[in-house]
Amino acid sequence: MAEILFIGLGNMGGPMANNLVGAGHKVHVFDLSEAAVEKLVNAGAYSVPDLRSFDGSDVDAIITMLPSGKHVRSVYTSEQGLPDSFKAGVLNIDCSTIDVDSAREVGKTLEARGQLFVDAPVSGGTAAAQAGTLTFMVGGTAIAYEKAKVFLDVMGKNIFHAGATGNGQVAKICNNMLLGIHMIGTCEAFNLAEKLGLDAQTFFDISSTASGQNWSMTSYCPAPGPVESAPSNREYKPGFAAAMMLKDLRLAQEAAHAAKASTPLGAQAEALYALMEAAKKDDMDFSGIMKLIQGQM
Ligand code: NAD
Repeated sequence: MAEILFIGLGNMGGPMANNLVGAGHKVHVFDLSEAAVEKLVNAGAYSVPDLRSFDGSDVDAIITMLPSGKHVRSVYTSEQGLPDSFKAGVLNIDCSTIDVDSAREVGKTLEARGQLFVDAPVSGGTAAAQAGTLTFMVGGTAIAYEKAKVFLDVMGKNIFHAGATGNGQVAKICNNMLLGIHMIGTCEAFNLAEKLGLDAQTFFDISSTASGQNWSMTSYCPAPGPVESAPSNREYKPGFAAAMMLKDLRLAQEAAHAAKASTPLGAQAEALYALMEAAKKDDMDFSGIMKLIQGQM
C-alpha cells in the first residue's frame, strides 16, 4: 500500500481522499479548513497541521483537489507551499479544474525538480466522487500516467490519457464548453416548441429520436417532465451548479484567446451564464438557464 499526501478536502477532495483511505492507503491530509481535516482523520487519515514542516520522505504520491489555478500554483510552486522533503521521482496528481497554462507551468517546474506530474481533472460531481466513479482526463508522460492510474482507479471508473501535460485540462474545458452550448440550444428549442403550442413531452419524443438529439436533452432535459432524474424536476437543484459551468466556460474563453481559436458560441454561452451569476441564480443547476431563456430570471 502507498503513502499519499492529499491536499484540498472540499466537496470533491473529501470523498476522494476517503476512498483512498478505504482502499488501505496511508493518507496524510491537509486543508485550510480544520473541520474538513477532522472529518478525514475520523475516517482513518493522518492530519498534517503544517505543510511546510511536513516530512514527505516516505510519500509516494501527492494529490491536490483545489478551487483554481492560483491555489494550485501556490501549493506546488510558492514558498508557502509544499516542502522540499519529497524523494526524487515522487508523483504529483492535480485533479483540480484549472487553466491550461497553470497546469503546464506547474508540470514544468516539478519535472525540473526531478518529479512526475499529471493534470487529471474530473468529470462527475460529488455523488461520483463518493461512489468512486469519476471520469479522469489525464495529461502527462506515459510513465506518470501509468503510475497515477493506480490511484485514479480507486477514485474513478473511466480514466483517459489525453496526451502531454495540460491536455487533461484541454479535454475538460472543451467538453464543458460543448455541454454549455448544447444545454442552451436545448433550452431554446423546448421554449420555442412550447410557445408554438407543442408540449415538452411530445417534442422530446420526436427530437430525441431525430437529429436534434443530444445529451442535454436525453439525460438531463432542462424542461420538466421527460427525464425523471433531471434537476428540472426538482426546481433545478444541482447537480452541476451554473457557477461551476461559468468557471469552465471562462477557462475555455481564456484558452481560446491565447490559442487564437474562434469560439463564438462558447463566448455567447459564457455571457449567458454570466447573466445567471449577475441575477444571483448561479447556485441553481446549470440546466436552470431554461428560466433565463423563458424570461423568468
Ligand atoms: P471546494 O471549494 O468544496 O473545496 C476546495 C477545498 O480546497 C476547500 O476545502 C478549501 O479549504 C481547500 N483549499 C483552498 N486553498 C487551499 C490551500 N492553499 N491549501 C489547502 N487547502 C486549500 O471545491 P470542490 O467542489 O471540491 O472543487 C474542487 C475542484 O474540483 C475545483 O477545481 C472544481 O472546479 C472541480 N470540480 C468540481 C466538481 C463539483 O461538482 N463540485 C465537479 C468537477 C470538478
